[in-house]
Amino acid sequence: MTEQRLQGLQYPIPYVKPSITDLEIAYVNDAIRTGWGPRCYDYINRLEADFAKWLGVKHAVATSSCTGALHMGLHALGIGSGDEVILADTNWIASVAPVVHLGATPVFVDILEDSWCLDPAQVEAAITSRTKAILAVHLYGNLCEMDRLRKLASDHGIPLIEDAAEAIGSVWKGARAGSMGKFGVFSFHGTKTVTTGEGGMFATSDNALYERVRSLNNHGRHPAQTKQFWADEIGFKYRMSNLDAALGCAQLERVEELVARKREILAGYRKRLSAVQQISLNPEPADGINGAWMPTAVFVSEAGVTREALLAAFKACQIDARVFFYPLSDQPMFSPVQSNTRARDISSRAINLPSFYDMTETDLDRVVSTLLSFVKD
Ligand SMILES: *Cc1c(COP(=O)(O)O)cnc(C)c1O
Repeated sequence: MTEQRLQGLQYPIPYVKPSITDLEIAYVNDAIRTGWGPRCYDYINRLEADFAKWLGVKHAVATSSCTGALHMGLHALGIGSGDEVILADTNWIASVAPVVHLGATPVFVDILEDSWCLDPAQVEAAITSRTKAILAVHLYGNLCEMDRLRKLASDHGIPLIEDAAEAIGSVWKGARAGSMGKFGVFSFHGTKTVTTGEGGMFATSDNALYERVRSLNNHGRHPAQTKQFWADEIGFKYRMSNLDAALGCAQLERVEELVARKREILAGYRKRLSAVQQISLNPEPADGINGAWMPTAVFVSEAGVTREALLAAFKACQIDARVFFYPLSDQPMFSPVQSNTRARDISSRAINLPSFYDMTETDLDRVVSTLLSFVKD
């Protein structure tokens, strides 16, 4: 790599990459040596306690994925056949898959022009007597309009749920993303700011909901159940391993540092593009913090860019940029919602930019110069 740099050759720039230090290695080594028998849950218990404390909620349940955490949470709320769940059309498939698995109907609404998160006015218009949840996904670290969504949810008596998989470190008016709804879910997938390779977290301050999800995650065996091999109901098995939890404990100790570096990279892009009117980046609310998981550039329509041209240019420069999420409703399992014009339009003129802990200023320059090649005078 260094030789390539010296020669001025282009080396590949990945889009994300975890930051692993001696701390992570030490914890995982300890877990693999000692974390068995009576100690087989030590790191899991510690991660759950530390995470709940850091997030500012009463309880956390470690899971094997964010998708699993969401599946159990929705199931615990009793969501099933005939029910509707409102979410933004612009989303990763993981946010909607559990809704479908439970037999409920996803209702896709349009996004806001600036935050790319669900539009509260459209949420309100989509509420029916069958609406059983509003799923607020904080896209790319950007925050949903939580005040308006919380008011809507409480006015209509509908639970507001946060998918904060992309928003670890994001803060809305002093409250961390994932701590404001009935429950919040997080992902520790290898691409996320805090990672265990695969993994997730369910977080809530609702005692009863916590007890239910904890028991659901243990095949429906209630913690107070004393009979062996006895299930009280059909549950799930989305548990995190102690080895993964050891990695998670180390990453969580470094969470402020990991988020700060993400924010520094987004700021680096912002500084370099500040004079460019044709590109906007992830917004940050005046009284909030964007955890900056995924710096994303959206071109104005007049720039005339296409997703395909952007991808091709980045590929030619060996930069692993990624497409902005396609509308979920366009995918073959659903029916296109033509009226979600912003979700359809923005994704066609936007691109996710690389951001990882060890990214250099030279890397940032290279990404930005590729972006600038699309800017018209
Ligand atoms: C990554 C992600 C998920 C899924 O996380 P897994 O841990 O892979 O299940 C869910 N929702 C959003 C918004 C994500 O970005």
